[in-house]
Amino acid sequence: MGLIETDAIILRSIKLGEADKIATILTSQEGVVRGVARGARRLKSKFGASLEPFTLIRLTFFEKDARELVTITGAEITKSYFDLTRDDSVFVTLEYVAGLILEFAPLRAPDERFYRLLKVCLEALAKSPCEVAWVSKYCEVWILKLAGFLPDSTKCGSCRRPLGREPGGAALTSGSNFECYECANPRGIAISQEALSMLNTALKTPPGTWSHHSARKDFKSASEIGKLLRILTDRAIGRELLPRSSNA
Ligand SMILES: [Zn+2]
Repeated sequence: MGLIETDAIILRSIKLGEADKIATILTSQEGVVRGVARGARRLKSKFGASLEPFTLIRLTFFEKDARELVTITGAEITKSYFDLTRDDSVFVTLEYVAGLILEFAPLRAPDERFYRLLKVCLEALAKSPCEVAWVSKYCEVWILKLAGFLPDSTKCGSCRRPLGREPGGAALTSGSNFECYECANPRGIAISQEALSMLNTALKTPPGTWSHHSARKDFKSASEIGKLLRILTDRAIGRELLPRSSNA
């Protein structure tokens, strides 16, 4: 196969031997790729800081004989978030989000939506790093949605009536459906009308707007939606993903 060129975001990079690095990269056209960057740890390497986590790059690589690791030949920085990622709480949250992406976006399965999600979330974080907990929740909602693990939150999974109109709210049942208060009662994990509406708004709103709006909501809905997303994510993965940002 010849050279492939694509926009991409570095998710992780680790040292390999004396002079090289292995980078795990979310690309816009090729899904997640893992590649070797020869000489990336040398002082005068052409890669410079381009393989630092959460840097946006124009990536060039090639692969030999469908091996798991591709060879990175170029990584030109298009946007650096170095200053943003120096904030510990932001970096821990981004690492958590990267972990989720690696769980849910399979290797070499092109799905530009994961790339676009992370890109807009990085932009939103750069504008308002203090809303990191909300941007993390937004990512969880959308990653579950893109991977097909977010149940329909607009209609009752049992009677199909619209959800969120009754003051009793709804419930997430063990079959991972949202059901109206009447159908679910008393089964499942209760979710208030406010938290349900917050979840539905995330599916229609850019991350910056949603985080800004949600950060002004009451603490109860915030912790409710956090708990709900954690349950859905853990059920989808089948185990708990660590580390998780303490306030996410
Ligand atoms: Zn119902």
